[in-house]
Amino acid sequence: MALYPIRTYGDPVLRMTPKSVVEIDDKIRTLVADMIEVMYDAPGVGLAANQIGVAKQIAVFDAQDELGPRVMINPEIVELSGEWEYEEGCLSVPGHSWLIKRPAFARVKALDLDGNDVEYAGDQLLGRVLQHEIGHLNGGLLIDVLPKRDRKKALKDLREEMLELGDPR
Ligand code: ZN
Repeated sequence: MALYPIRTYGDPVLRMTPKSVVEIDDKIRTLVADMIEVMYDAPGVGLAANQIGVAKQIAVFDAQDELGPRVMINPEIVELSGEWEYEEGCLSVPGHSWLIKRPAFARVKALDLDGNDVEYAGDQLLGRVLQHEIGHLNGGLLIDVLPKRDRKKALKDLREEMLELGDPR
């Protein structure tokens, strides 16, 4: 059984902005370990805490490099540049993906599990994952960054899908 079910499109928790983490204690460390498990189990390359219903500024990711799973607490984007188109999906919007243009490169400041300042920077998949997860931590979803016409279509498709599933939301 999954530790935490992943919240999906229509769940209001995905549209809330989680609170900053004030103290990194054992509870936070356990939460992060659980989040990494949920991410790999899904499987996905990133997971924000509000995707499992926890309103905290925490995200985990694995950009499929040699560094393995990493965590960012209270992350903040400090630099974006370039442009890159990538077929992007989201664990909270299962069964969909869109070709999405975002900056190619991202630099992020955050805290690690010991409360130390840490910086993550990269382009392509890493740059994308950083932007996607920080989007979640601002109450955002990948459809928000689609051009207006594509976004309208995406919202319509998702609405129809929810009605078909009999989702009361
Ligand atoms: Zn996502």
